[in-house]
Amino acid sequence: MARQVQDRIARTGDAVTKADRSPVTVADLAIQVLVSHRLAERFPGDGLLAEEDTAAIDADSVLAAQVCELSRQAVPGLTADAMRRALGRGDHGGGAARHWVLDPVDGTKGFLRGEQFAVALALIDGGRLAAAALGCPRLLPADHSGQEGSIFSAEAGCGATERRLGSTADRPITVDAVTDPARAAFCESVEAAHAAHSVQAEIAARLGIHRPPVRIDSQCKYAVVARGEASIYLRLPRRTDYREKVWDHAAGALIIEEAEGRVTDLDGRPLDVSAGRYLARSHGIVATNGRLHEVVLAACREVLGVG
Ligand code: AMP
Ligand code: MG
Repeated sequence: MARQVQDRIARTGDAVTKADRSPVTVADLAIQVLVSHRLAERFPGDGLLAEEDTAAIDADSVLAAQVCELSRQAVPGLTADAMRRALGRGDHGGGAARHWVLDPVDGTKGFLRGEQFAVALALIDGGRLAAAALGCPRLLPADHSGQEGSIFSAEAGCGATERRLGSTADRPITVDAVTDPARAAFCESVEAAHAAHSVQAEIAARLGIHRPPVRIDSQCKYAVVARGEASIYLRLPRRTDYREKVWDHAAGALIIEEAEGRVTDLDGRPLDVSAGRYLARSHGIVATNGRLHEVVLAACREVLGVG
């Protein structure tokens, strides 16, 4: 569904010229409706914390009709009422108790540019990440051959896998084995507003990394590290008071950890996903193949002049 909307935007240039981003919103909302609907069928007792809410959509509006139409491709016969109920179920406040976390279209800017975006779903249980699924519809296989599109999944303690779209085979994935930071590839956001590119460049230089950063939108960055295509993902906030949203990181973080990598904040603590909608107790994000983690954290501390 997301790719269909993305292709339409590419053909018509629609979303980019509209101040209300409505085609993007249609994709966001319809994907949230679909995932929420399926979760309600399979796990009726579970809460869902999702990025969108019913306030985004007036009953009887053109937007509501468009969301219904798109959702019905996956849930035939879905009524307008059931659509609103599914959307509204995403209002869980988060915390430590068992609940799901969803970002229906992560990386909106990439989505609009016809580039990378992700559909990111995670299960939090007892304050910890328990399971994750990360759809990356535009991501090529690691060898850059063949068709775009992979779904990554992970379950705590069971490892991480990649399934190419259209396939039914899950392939186990692991991070790379790079131990010399100078040989590491590092990735970061395309959007300069989302991470301090210049500070991250200083950290890379301190690590002896000469290759330019690989810039990718959305949680596809986590997938790229998890399958060993890059060794490091840095996300240093531009403003120290910015708090990351839990749905922007939960799924990706578990997939890297289960692929034998590490994901922490700048203090080296695992991301605390139990604080509600925001990663309120985590500052900055450092994701690596594990082997490089301590040396990357040390470089961050040196450049930031802390510790
Ligand atoms: P990325 O594609 O990795 O750059 O991240 C996309 C996500 O960045 C979006 O889902 C937003 O929630 C989030 N975001 C928006 N503003 C900021 C900001 N100032 N700093 C960090 N992340 C942000
Ligand atoms: Mg997002």
